[in-house]
Amino acid sequence: MSFRFDPQTVYVFLICGHIFTVVLLSAYRRSESRDGLISAFYVAKLLQAAAWTLMILKGSFLDDRLVISLVNTLLLIGTALEAAALLRMHGTLSVRSRRIGIGVTLLAILTFNGVVFFYNYEYVRIVVASVFSAVLIAPPALKLLIEPRATALRRLMGGLYGFVAAALFVRAGAASFSGGTTALLTAGVSQNLFSISSYLTMVLANTGFVLLAKQKSDEELVRLASLDDLTQIWNRRTFLNKASAILDRHAKRNLPVSFLLFDIDGFKGINDTHGHDIGDRVLREMSAIVARQLRPDDLFGRYGGDEFAILLPDTSKAESTLLAERIRASAQGAYTLSIGALTFVPRHGSDLERIYKCCDMALYEAKRAGRNRIQRAEPHYAESSVAMPARELERARV
Ligand code: GH3
Ligand code: MG
Repeated sequence: MSFRFDPQTVYVFLICGHIFTVVLLSAYRRSESRDGLISAFYVAKLLQAAAWTLMILKGSFLDDRLVISLVNTLLLIGTALEAAALLRMHGTLSVRSRRIGIGVTLLAILTFNGVVFFYNYEYVRIVVASVFSAVLIAPPALKLLIEPRATALRRLMGGLYGFVAAALFVRAGAASFSGGTTALLTAGVSQNLFSISSYLTMVLANTGFVLLAKQKSDEELVRLASLDDLTQIWNRRTFLNKASAILDRHAKRNLPVSFLLFDIDGFKGINDTHGHDIGDRVLREMSAIVARQLRPDDLFGRYGGDEFAILLPDTSKAESTLLAERIRASAQGAYTLSIGALTFVPRHGSDLERIYKCCDMALYEAKRAGRNRIQRAEPHYAESSVAMPARELERARV
């Protein structure tokens, strides 16, 4: 290769890239809440910018050993913070992994500086710095890569950091085999490859992290908008959207679903006697008890007030009656439940509103028959071609 990036230019590009990221994150942090996720990444970028700035001073008035020690200490802390920010983004930065991370970083700094001041061979420094950096980066890279429902962006970032970790291990291996002939930026092809990959990695990682943070906060907003504030189960809108997708799937496969609609008996009385706060507590606790009895694919939502719905995929009449009975029995204490239950095989375009009304009629029947019971609904009313009895419907809404 006839042309070569000179190291000084590469350092200047790395410094500029990190400083631009720091400036952008500073502006973002001024208007948004200062969450720890962005802060850890922000400090990591500051340290990395400082490290590359110091690197330019190598060979100047500062002692080379001091520069190498400072640069690598800053880079190791920066790498550890970047890895911590990624783990936090992934939601797996436990107290234990934080302690392990701090331990590995301290060991890395001590080992590296031990080498610099007592056994100062360049290839040993490269091996130590590369291995420890790779060990710090590998866990978040793996977690992002193998996460079952990862978005394309998360997988890409996992792949990118995985590539960096692998490249660092290769660099350490090459340095230890060559026993001193590999330098940080050697001439020719390897120098250019190192320069280009350092720069691209920096641009991709910095942009990618900001996008990941944005994606995470968007996901959190969607989650908050999908849940009922009080009970933390799906709200009516989300329940209807998800239920409609389940009905379509079951219509295609000609499988039955069951729908349970239930309501607390005499809930107004609980509010009137014990106060609204206790009423709220009853709603929360009842939801938690019911949620514990459901399978992961069952859909549980609050329709409004003290009325709740459960859609049970691929569930027969007998199975749904059994579950309804368990739910009713679980509430035998300060309050009781009345339940309307329907089992049917959905067709294309099955109308959820109609299914709901059908169950609501059964629920009304259960209330009228004395409460604290299960009433099965007529499945043929759930089909759009069958007329609903108008008077029953009116009464159901009284
Ligand atoms: P029934 O046996 O016929 O169901 O009698 P009920 O007293 O339970 O009557 P209904 O289901 O119509 O009453 C629902 C009550 O729930 C009315 C409303 O004041 C109360 N409510 C609705 N939302 C909330 C809430 O978020 N918290 C509390 N504490 N009460 C609520
Ligand atoms: Mg009620």
